Amino acid sequence: MKDSFGRAIRCLRVSVTDRCNLRCVYCMPADGVDFTPPEDLLTLEEIERVVKAAARAGVEKVRLTGGEPLMREGLSELARKIKAVSGIKILGVTTNGVLLHRCARELFDAGVDGLNISLDTLDPRRYKALTGGGDVGRVMRGLEAARALPFKSIKINCVLSPDIRESDWMGVIGLARDFPVDVKLIEFMPVKTDSRPSISAKEVLRVIESTYGGATLLSHKGGGVPPVAASDVLEGPAVYYKPGGFKGRVGIIAALSGCFCASCDRLRLSAAGGLRSCLFGREVLELRALLRNSVSDSGLDAAVAAAVRMKPKGYDAGSGPGRISGESEGLFRIGG
Ligand code: SAM
Ligand code: SF4
Repeated sequence: MKDSFGRAIRCLRVSVTDRCNLRCVYCMPADGVDFTPPEDLLTLEEIERVVKAAARAGVEKVRLTGGEPLMREGLSELARKIKAVSGIKILGVTTNGVLLHRCARELFDAGVDGLNISLDTLDPRRYKALTGGGDVGRVMRGLEAARALPFKSIKINCVLSPDIRESDWMGVIGLARDFPVDVKLIEFMPVKTDSRPSISAKEVLRVIESTYGGATLLSHKGGGVPPVAASDVLEGPAVYYKPGGFKGRVGIIAALSGCFCASCDRLRLSAAGGLRSCLFGREVLELRALLRNSVSDSGLDAAVAAAVRMKPKGYDAGSGPGRISGESEGLFRIGG
């Protein structure tokens, strides 16, 4: 299905819970969070129905996220059901990795194709500070467990938040230097509670290029473009580079500075059943009431079509940087 601006909608992000076992400084407000009461979370069956409706509208890719998705009971069962939905070709999970050492095998066996593991520093003290008490050793064990399995893709997500230091993200990209894993550096998207400036995609690329003597551009719609001047072509969700001597790739996502609304193909389903077509938009289509009032499949299809139709052309760059939508104080609420 195409939206009003001709973009085909292919991807659905599903938040399976808004709860989390970490408190990343840029994601969860420090002064406490009102989580969705359990009875208001979509059930696994309700999520499956929405995925089926999305697949009928042309969605091929689903990503399970949160909050921390590995905290949701029955996640593997849900993964198995989603993988069996006709039309769904790729299933990914985005996780903080804290519980991954226990369930990597289960997720793989359930048909999960790829994992994105969030990791903002390798330094145990800094990790503790950035995540509100997390243990980076557990994430590293989770990463090892995942790397031992033949997932189609394993990527590390590192957010360039106002609190991150150069030594943090340079340490994380060291994983791509030493191992064949991809590290994605993601520009911070401002939330209501935090409008401090943060380092841009362009600046990090300059640091990488000067540290490693250039970085070969690997993916860009223009094809193989030369190294070094690569900083001028940061566009699209992830642009991949291979700095000198690296085994893996470094992806840079100019989430804010390089607005890629023109190629956005996403819908997002919140844990409470809110369907959004734009992270920065205010429009939310509440599906939970419909699902609990015996909506028919065609009624659900109409709701998904309505969400696709309300997808805006882009966020309003004219009024300053976009802010993550609505009532949310962070991505944990909508699903990152
Ligand atoms: N708990 C899981 C995790 O951390 O991977 C999944 C949910 S989390 C909200 C998904 C992703 O959103 C993480 O990679 C996180 O770092 C990122 N994220 C959270 N807040 C963000 C922000 N304000 N700007 C950019 N990325 C953000
Ligand atoms: Fe939890 Fe992920 Fe948000 Fe960190 S980024 S607080 S791990 S939901």
